[in-house]
Amino acid sequence: MTSTEPRNVIIIGSGPAGYTAAVYAARASLAPLVFEGAVTAGGALMNTTEVENFPGFREGIQGPALMDEMRAQAERFGAELVTDDVTEVDLSGDVKVVKTAEGTFTARAVILAMGSGYRKLGIPDEDRLSGHGVSWCATCDGFFFREQHIAVVGGGDSALEEATFLSRFGSKVTIIHRRDELRASKIMQDRALADPKIEFAWNSEVAAIHGDDKLTGLTLRDTVTGETRELPATGLFIAIGHDPRSELLTGQVDLDDEGYVLVEDRSTRTNLPGVFACGDLVDHTYRQAITAAGSGCAAALDAERYLAALD
Ligand code: FAD
Repeated sequence: MTSTEPRNVIIIGSGPAGYTAAVYAARASLAPLVFEGAVTAGGALMNTTEVENFPGFREGIQGPALMDEMRAQAERFGAELVTDDVTEVDLSGDVKVVKTAEGTFTARAVILAMGSGYRKLGIPDEDRLSGHGVSWCATCDGFFFREQHIAVVGGGDSALEEATFLSRFGSKVTIIHRRDELRASKIMQDRALADPKIEFAWNSEVAAIHGDDKLTGLTLRDTVTGETRELPATGLFIAIGHDPRSELLTGQVDLDDEGYVLVEDRSTRTNLPGVFACGDLVDHTYRQAITAAGSGCAAALDAERYLAALD
């Protein structure tokens, strides 16, 4: 399948950022074509259970149900959704070229919304217990672990920030770190070390996690002696970093040192005219469904203005 006439806009990615961009672009009569991704259509929230902090759902909503609603809303206004991966792009010219295994597509504007992946530990049962005690986001899920023993894996600023935040909810927070010293900044270390609810499992890694429907405990392995011990935590927050899904873009748009797409302040404009980026693909800081949706809206408005100026 190859289209000849350039479309107005192609959106790559189908999380809250991509679908929100699609709703706005479709309602602006831009007839967007959205590549949703083959395996992970719907984005990060497809892997979670209850979402309690997306405005408009007072009782909360299941992640996949929220994404189904966003998808249906985009379709209702005429967005064309294709469940396929984009494999290659050429974004440098006035007409942008986007390739999938099925064909080559062109557009005058492209919105990049591929999100970022949370790094995993790579141990058995991690995916199965995701949303059932295993989490990658304290802001999202901390509230579910009131008065429980929570473990946090990592030794950088974000791990310590998550642990300090989680100590508001948990009865105890254990930071599990592979080494005997932290990478985090001194101020974050001081704060965590002074917190009476936080303790450290030094030179430790998670060897296994346990539980049928919910996490019931962890096995830790000492990275020096190899000895194992049990930790009866019922929450596990993995804070070992994120990888923006920007491989497609290397040599195309400007990326920062960690691979996030660089955008002009207070806009979604990249260094290439007609190319906009939004959601977790650009965001080191907030990484929430609502902030991703907000920047998806901004990307569609930026694209609409760019196209209006060309006409
Ligand atoms: P994503 O949701 O990651 O979507 C990116 C999309 O791009 C994916 O669909 C992917 O398939 C697609 N894609 C990538 N590459 C390509 C390609 N080459 N071609 C086509 N498509 C591609 N936030 C909250 O606000 N509340 C919560 O309760 C909450 N819980 C969470 C629970 C979990 C387990 C996780 C992992 C995250 C949670 N978050 C939560 C964070 C939230 O999910 C993210 O901030 C948000 O999904 C980011 O949206 P996004 O659209 O930028 O990217």
